Amino acid sequence: MGAWLSPAAAQEQVLNLYSARHYQTDEALYANFTKSTGIRINRVDTDDAGLLARLKSEGAASPADVILLVDAARLWQAEEDGLFQAVKSKTLDARIPAQLRGKASEAGSAWFGLSTRARVIVYNQQAVKKEDVLNYQDLGSPKNKGRVCTRSGSHPYNLSLFGAVYEHIGAEATEAWLKGLVTNMARAPKGGDTDQIKAVASGECGVAITNTYYLARMMRSEKPEDREVMSKVGVVFPNQQSWGTHINIAGGAVARHAKNRDNAIKFLEYLSSNEAQSYFANGNNEWPAVSGVRLSNVALESFGNFKSETIPISKVGANQPQVQKMLDRVGYK
Ligand code: FE
Repeated sequence: MGAWLSPAAAQEQVLNLYSARHYQTDEALYANFTKSTGIRINRVDTDDAGLLARLKSEGAASPADVILLVDAARLWQAEEDGLFQAVKSKTLDARIPAQLRGKASEAGSAWFGLSTRARVIVYNQQAVKKEDVLNYQDLGSPKNKGRVCTRSGSHPYNLSLFGAVYEHIGAEATEAWLKGLVTNMARAPKGGDTDQIKAVASGECGVAITNTYYLARMMRSEKPEDREVMSKVGVVFPNQQSWGTHINIAGGAVARHAKNRDNAIKFLEYLSSNEAQSYFANGNNEWPAVSGVRLSNVALESFGNFKSETIPISKVGANQPQVQKMLDRVGYK
């Protein structure tokens, strides 16, 4: 059969990418990789849950080489489910901080954080005093009764946040806090992070939680209605006097059954390059995982410097089964 193929076709290099990143600005990232390496990317885009289900049903026959996911809880779960293989790469080890990687073993790390986002508090500047919402714990306190809005407690962004709080204050205090959150709800959990920001601006909610890139997107928006929303909303990077603001990641891994393993590693290494890292920051308003990458993003710059938590991100994911049980007990839907 090989005789029928031109040498170029026989040697064509491919990479099968399963991506849950739902950000249009990633296009340029993939195109640049192909341009510089000659490796063609076949891409499957779906949400995290769909992607993980697909990988499981494909099993060893899966064509996936690289998997990109957007949350620490999901990365941890996929690692637990045996969907990744460990990778040792001098480049990745040098560039991606250890606390942003999956479990380390002789064989390397199971996954690598590629960009970070903070989970912050937004409040209605007319209805709520900033001093009342400086810490995550404040949202469970009686002073914020009837004010709190969140998306579903079981959404991975919240599972990761609650898993982090668990790591910082322990099981008992975390469950009491979650119970307080439920007591303080202005409405039943619904919608995404952007919906919470809008509901805070309208006054339906006094205070809510959101990832920073949703905020940054609205801050950079030219639409008058987005500007109006942002004029009503104050932003707090929580827990500056204690453990620091909760950080989550988007990350990537080499698939367990990757057929193009070398290309997969090359791709992850490319995503840690300065060029790719600045795409994450400037395109989707995330912070680069690699330190020292220059930002040119007015929204991120306006957030300034803040204290981030420093717990290993893999712990945040590992706490989610316990956290989910707590949510069930306190009735946090
Ligand atoms: Fe998101």
